[in-house]
Amino acid sequence: MDAAQDIVRRLRLVVGDAAQVALHEPEFQGREKEYVSDCVQSGWVSSVGKYVDRFESMLAEYTGAKRAVAVVNGTAALHISLKLCDVQPGDEVLCPALSFVATANAISYCQAIPHFVDSERYTLGLDPRKLDGYLRKIVTLRNGVAWNRLSRRRIRAVIPMHTLGHPVDLDPLVEVCERFKIALVEDAAESLGTYYKQRHTGTIGRVGALSFNGNKIITTGGGGAILTNDDALADRAKHLTTTAKRAHRWEYVHDEVGFNYRMPNLNAALGCAQLERLPEMRARKRALALQFASAFAGCNDAKFFIEPQFGESNYWLNALLVPGGKVVRDHVLATSHESGLMTRPVWDLLPDLPMYQGHPQMDLTVARSLQKEVINIPSSARLAASAAERQAA
Ligand SMILES: *Cc1c(COP(=O)(O)O)cnc(C)c1O
Repeated sequence: MDAAQDIVRRLRLVVGDAAQVALHEPEFQGREKEYVSDCVQSGWVSSVGKYVDRFESMLAEYTGAKRAVAVVNGTAALHISLKLCDVQPGDEVLCPALSFVATANAISYCQAIPHFVDSERYTLGLDPRKLDGYLRKIVTLRNGVAWNRLSRRRIRAVIPMHTLGHPVDLDPLVEVCERFKIALVEDAAESLGTYYKQRHTGTIGRVGALSFNGNKIITTGGGGAILTNDDALADRAKHLTTTAKRAHRWEYVHDEVGFNYRMPNLNAALGCAQLERLPEMRARKRALALQFASAFAGCNDAKFFIEPQFGESNYWLNALLVPGGKVVRDHVLATSHESGLMTRPVWDLLPDLPMYQGHPQMDLTVARSLQKEVINIPSSARLAASAAERQAA
């Protein structure tokens, strides 16, 4: 049996023998229909309604953030988060080279410049110590502002991303941000239900962004949220995402160029039902990860990625690390697809995409090697139940 076949055999031990196994399927087994049809019956399906408020307070309660502001999607949440940190045209914003394109696009929407940072192997996320060493070389602090000596641009913010649900090492990053006076914006799009040292991800930086896209741990169809512990920032987020309209019963007074980024009530209704089920779904996802970890124990050709010790992951998308380069990885992808198992590589590095080529970047050795090694494997929460049943049988 070649290495790829052995990997598929081990995957099948966990996911069973269904002809096709998806990468990540949403689940609607709670009160989704009830809330959505209540929403339709009420007539309040759009930008006003009780479910938006309810979803926001449920999110705040679940994450421990003081405030949550629901928006149309995670990308919009990131865009507004950067605006809340006063990112201006021509500023640089640090972000991992290994991330989904939305992280860098949100920076571009502010007419700012993504500046790409390396990852570390045991979190898959931004490497705070390597970043610290790098910034010590290139930054001059003047009047509390970090200037990139090479580009002569201001470095305004950094966006760590909790990759595939695993927490970034935030304590040392917070120190870097304090030393260099850089705002911390967490891209927590993949990490609802993930904790860093008992604190929910997305609540440690000045602002955090969540996503509820169809492939995320819970979904509102499309949606996102901004988390913050700062009331003034939350109020500003609400204002900016609702066309900057001053509250008034009939007048239309908009006091700046705002955005129509508010989450519709219909989506929030779905979100309330999904959030009710999150603790239970998260438990099943963690159980599924344990099953994969034992199926891959002792495997030399692939390592199942395990959460870092300082945190608890939601195991949103499970990952194997397959060393040996792109050819080996692609052979595993092809073999698993032939067997009906949906697997996929991680994203291409952002600075390799046409619009981000030549953008400022540090040495990206680790991100480059992870990019060739990581394979995402089927991760739907419902797979945990079938794996447990098979073990019992
Ligand atoms: C999904 C995702 C986003 C954006 O979310 P959308 O809701 O699809 O706009 C941003 N960053 C990361 C890392 C993501 O995975």
